[in-house]
Amino acid sequence: MSAPEKQGIATKGYATQNKDAKFGPFDFVRREVGPHDIVIDIAFCGICHSDIHQAKAEWEPMIPSIYPMVPGHEIVGRVTRVGSQVTKFKEGDAAGIGCFIDSCGECAACTAGIEQNCVKGCAMTYNGTEMDRETLTYGGYSKHYVVDENYALKVNATGDLSGVAPLMCAGITTYSPLKRWGAGPGKKVAVAGLGGLGHIGVKIAAAMGAEVTVLSTSPSKEQDARKLGAHNFLNTKDAEAAKAAVGSFDLILDTISAQHDYNFYLSLLGLEGVMVVVGVPTEPVPLNAFSLIGGNKAIAGSMIGGIAETQEMLDFCAEHNIMSDVEVISPDRIEEAYDRTVRSDVRYRFVIDMQNA
Ligand code: NAP
Ligand code: ZN
Repeated sequence: MSAPEKQGIATKGYATQNKDAKFGPFDFVRREVGPHDIVIDIAFCGICHSDIHQAKAEWEPMIPSIYPMVPGHEIVGRVTRVGSQVTKFKEGDAAGIGCFIDSCGECAACTAGIEQNCVKGCAMTYNGTEMDRETLTYGGYSKHYVVDENYALKVNATGDLSGVAPLMCAGITTYSPLKRWGAGPGKKVAVAGLGGLGHIGVKIAAAMGAEVTVLSTSPSKEQDARKLGAHNFLNTKDAEAAKAAVGSFDLILDTISAQHDYNFYLSLLGLEGVMVVVGVPTEPVPLNAFSLIGGNKAIAGSMIGGIAETQEMLDFCAEHNIMSDVEVISPDRIEEAYDRTVRSDVRYRFVIDMQNA
């Protein structure tokens, strides 16, 4: 007699079958609810540019793309079931999931609360495996997720949750380096790229008390930038304006998703300024040593944030009334949303409504 098939939660997602394919419905089974697990009925899932990079296999060979791929790591919804040992959530609570859903819990990174850097490799929300290194993970372009309560976030918003979803990735990816590098009163902070990450970065940096400038290739976004809380706007294609801004900033948060010249952006830093790279151009970027040594400048990187800091960011955003500016779409418009995001034609995050999918 063969072993009984594993029980699980049947669900429906939207998957792409290869880097050139279109998204289509995809039925699959989530794992059975364990004692520490919760089931989230997904209401909204944001479309992060990382979804596009991975769906289109742009990060290979560093990060292989596994198909069928159900992307999505900006997830919010309602808890509909809790395992027997769950204490953090109850049925009906709003909850979120970000970029990872598990980690070893024991290594130096996990114990320091930066589980995203787990030395064993954390379990990514999609395009990866659970910690058993066998069970494939599928993301939030789907109806349900089963997740350990310790890797889910508490969401204290009432009403429409669509603007909260993007905080799960774009929010923490900007909050963490802004905090670490001291954005606050008296600091001149520039946010490069006004997309999904950038627009939340502007709101958070302004709420932290910094003087905020947007560095953008899209002059049409100037008015929006100011409404989002930026004090200044620099069209980086305007050579004269760019020249006048050389040496201006203490901190640059680089959220740009495509190839760009790091040397140019570093020239905009003042003495001992720091540029933190969070955007991921798909090819290596040439860096001239002189861009760093003159002025004692630094370039740093940052990847999302740990669970505790993500919760701290959600609480900060709730306190400061920060949500994402979203365009809510149905799942049959994922391709259109991808095309428009790549063209920088999104104001400022596409979010998929999974409730009626
Ligand atoms: P997005 O919404 O597409 O925004 C990217 C912005 O970059 C665009 O809106 C555009 O802003 C600017 N841009 C695009 N092409 C450019 C070019 N050739 N030169 C200069 N600027 C350009 O993307 P996103 O979702 O915010 O993600 C941004 C990047 O961060 C992606 O690479 C993503 O994979 C990465 N990411 C990293 C982490 C992490 O943990 N480090 C987490 C999430 C995402 P303007 O129109 O204002 O110029
Ligand atoms: Zn993301």
